[in-house]
Amino acid sequence: MDCYETARSYSLVRKQFDDKPIASHQLVQEKLADMITEITKAQLLALHVGRLKDQGKIEPAHISMLKRNNVGIALDCARKSRDLLGGNGIMDEYPIMRHMCNLETVKTYEGTDHIHTLVIGERVTGVAAYK
Ligand SMILES: Cc1cc2nc3c(=O)[nH]c(=O)nc-3n(C[C@H](O)[C@H](O)[C@H](O)COP(=O)(O)OP(=O)(O)OC[C@H]3O[C@@H](n4cnc5c(N)ncnc54)[C@H](O)[C@@H]3O)c2cc1C
Repeated sequence: MDCYETARSYSLVRKQFDDKPIASHQLVQEKLADMITEITKAQLLALHVGRLKDQGKIEPAHISMLKRNNVGIALDCARKSRDLLGGNGIMDEYPIMRHMCNLETVKTYEGTDHIHTLVIGERVTGVAAYK
C-alpha cells in the first residue's frame, strides 16, 4: 500500500513531455488501476479469512491462499511502483526498494509459494503432490 501511494502521489508531481504529469498518461493510470484493484481484492481476502477464523471454520488451505496471493500481489505492486518512479524507483529517498527487498524475503519466510500452491492443490483434488 505504501508503494502504491508513493507511486500515485509521485505520478502527479513528476512532469515529462509538454510539462504534463506522468499521471495523465493512460499506461501510467493502467498500472495504478491494476494496483489498487489487486490491493482491494487482497484486503477483502484477508478480511474474509479473518472472519472464517473468528467463526472457527478456518483450514490450512485458506491460510495458504491468503499468504500466496497477498505476498504475490504485494511484490507485484512494489515492482510496478518502482517502474513508475523511473530512476527514482531505486533510490533510497523513496521507500520502494526497501519494501521490494523485504517482500522478496517474505515470499520465502511466510511459507514458500510452491508449498502454498501444493497445499491448495491437495485441498481441491484430495491428492498430495509434495514428492
Ligand atoms: C528469515 C526466515 C524466517 C522464517 N520464519 C518462519 C516462522 O516464523 N515460522 C515458520 O514456520 N517458518 C519460518 N520460516 C521457514 C519458511 O517459511 C520456509 O518454510 C523455509 O524457509 C523453507 O525451507 P528452506 O529454506 O530449507 O527451503 P527448501 O525447503 O530447501 O526449499 C527451496 C525451494 O524448493 C522448493 N521445494 C522444496 N520442497 C518442495 C516440494 N516438495 N515441492 C515443490 N517445491 C519444493 C521450495 O518451495 C523452495 O522454492 C522462516 C524462514 C526464513 C528464511
